[in-house]
Amino acid sequence: MTTGEQWQEVGDRVFVRRHVGLDLNCGLVIGDDACMVIDTRLHLGEAADLIGAIRRLTPHPWTVVNTHAHWDHCFGNSAFRPAEIWGHTAAAADLASTGELQRASAARLASGAGRDGIAAQIQAAPIDPPDRLVDEHAALVIGDRVVDLRFLGRGHTDGDLVIEVDCGQDGSVLFAGDLVEEGNPPGFGDAFPFDWPATLGRVHGLARGPVVPGHGAVVDADFVGSQRAELLAVEQVIRRTLEDAPDLTEFPGALPSGSPYDEETTRVAVERGWRQARG
Ligand SMILES: [Zn+2]
Repeated sequence: MTTGEQWQEVGDRVFVRRHVGLDLNCGLVIGDDACMVIDTRLHLGEAADLIGAIRRLTPHPWTVVNTHAHWDHCFGNSAFRPAEIWGHTAAAADLASTGELQRASAARLASGAGRDGIAAQIQAAPIDPPDRLVDEHAALVIGDRVVDLRFLGRGHTDGDLVIEVDCGQDGSVLFAGDLVEEGNPPGFGDAFPFDWPATLGRVHGLARGPVVPGHGAVVDADFVGSQRAELLAVEQVIRRTLEDAPDLTEFPGALPSGSPYDEETTRVAVERGWRQARG
């Protein structure tokens, strides 16, 4: 079951595989006797396809990392067992508590789009949260190299990990998960819009080479800086709606101008901001 998606080497033995489905990126870091897989796709069939692609590059045993708890990044987890699966403590808790809900809504979405086969595969995906947990930082030895897992603050969710892969003289590769999004607006459904700009500022400060977003084309520090500016503009929009209605606990619904994103994305962001500020 090959979908023909190719690995792109973005640093010394650091690969990205960008998938047609959801424009999702997965990563592979190869050491001399071990490898690391970053995100596992959205059901066991897609995970098996990813495993086939990994095995065309390396025979080494893997360690897995989930960038965060969203279904499209981690519903393939159990195909990689019995390996260790790393994730942020909050992401593991989130997947354990919302996994069933996520599975039902993702399957509904797929079947609503006429993709009944995919819906059935999502329905069959086991919920398998990370069991090796990170709060702030972990340095993992992957053969002859070290990979740093860092929590840089809340943003797209409350448990996004940034994976920093040192590439010696060539700088580093950062896997940013959905903290960074290329080709589509960022996802605010579980976001913390007042924290996200500062978190992206830290990602920006860390970037010394390619930055791999959760979805879309590989970008760089400049792109992260631009997205941070967009998120700051969204934050200003949210603050304006709060100032305009100091006595309300629920967003009254009228959006001011000034958002860099489409109306639906902005509305979700504002509602999340209200929940954070007044919920
Ligand atoms: Zn996500």
